[in-house]
Amino acid sequence: MFSIIFIVLLLIQTLTQCYLSVRQIRYVSQHKGQVPEAFAHKISLTSHQRAADYTIARQRLHLIEIFINVIVLLGFTLFGGLTALNNLIAEHISSPIWYQILLLITVSAISQIISLPLAWYRTFVLEQSFGFNRMTPGLFIKDLIKETLLGLVISIPLFYGLFAFLEAFYTPYWWVWAWAGFSVFMLIMMFIGPTIIMPLFNKFTPLDNPELQERIQSLAKRANFALKALFVMDGSKRSAHGNAFFTGFGKNRRIVFFDTLLSKLTPAEIEAVLAHELGHFKHKHIIKRLIMMFVMMFVFFAVLGFLIDKVWFYAGLGVFPGISQPIYGIAIVLFMLVLPVFTFLYTPISSWFSRKDEFEADSYAAKQSDAHELISALVKLYDDNASTLTPDPVHSAFYDSHPPASIRIAHLKAAMH
Ligand SMILES: [Zn+2]
Repeated sequence: MFSIIFIVLLLIQTLTQCYLSVRQIRYVSQHKGQVPEAFAHKISLTSHQRAADYTIARQRLHLIEIFINVIVLLGFTLFGGLTALNNLIAEHISSPIWYQILLLITVSAISQIISLPLAWYRTFVLEQSFGFNRMTPGLFIKDLIKETLLGLVISIPLFYGLFAFLEAFYTPYWWVWAWAGFSVFMLIMMFIGPTIIMPLFNKFTPLDNPELQERIQSLAKRANFALKALFVMDGSKRSAHGNAFFTGFGKNRRIVFFDTLLSKLTPAEIEAVLAHELGHFKHKHIIKRLIMMFVMMFVFFAVLGFLIDKVWFYAGLGVFPGISQPIYGIAIVLFMLVLPVFTFLYTPISSWFSRKDEFEADSYAAKQSDAHELISALVKLYDDNASTLTPDPVHSAFYDSHPPASIRIAHLKAAMH
């Protein structure tokens, strides 16, 4: 029975993903011939067509990705991959704690290795052919090694702690403890992220542009925002795509601009983009999202706590754990593997909430700064990032965290009157 529910949901997910991708490809191709009216004076036909080609190329790659993900998921579950791997590791590792850790690491390593060719293709063929890639193969490999080592350094002590704890003190509410442990761990990661982890990959330098600094300081004053630190990140090391973001919290809170963004926008436009980011902060979007994440994690751990001793959960997914080994490791792996299938239909709801936040941040920016400047910044960014101006409405409603360009700009224009 549970097998059937799983297969049906996986089928719904896969068909929906393919359907939406095909819709997006078709819609974008159909609107390739002409720049939409509202952008006719700002974006050239060549740029518009380049954005269409880029969007289509990415969707085609996404279709391959969907296919690979289904094969990998079925391979681990119903086709018996996880059971075989579990038996193999259990046979060779006698320590219950290390057996569980090794199982987690091996499954994530296998998934990583399978996704590697596609990641390589994305960077060195797709992004490269549209002129976005700045990464060298050397840097790609260096990043990969660093990410892997970092992942091991972080996850081994975390899971060692968890499994050792569970071995020493068994309680039926083990999942509450596990949730609390993960939550504290995530808060620590968010706190040290901007100062310890991100500098491992990028260089952060204090913003050194008097005109821009003055504008930003005065915006911060108007918005009554205690501005801690402004940094520039060398995003151009990897990609030509530009961005700006808030990161960290407490005394580690900082605003980071990609160097690629600074080189493209005027100080007035950057101020408007920053006002939008401040809008997210003022409307408490960041803290709300954080709380939401902890609540969701609590629910997931509760579900895992319920499922862990249910035979149908494992058998239904084609997994047969050995009886002499602790079950936590394999339960966590299996749960993480299949969770996306069960939460997929939540995607459009989460996208809708995210777009609502974007509208709020835009209104805030229109009040605190200049909506004209934000529009002109957005148009430049759409153009530079080759983001399509004509996304398929259904695809966009389902996936997009940001409203489509035309609607977003229409809202900003309305805010000016
Ligand atoms: Zn935003």
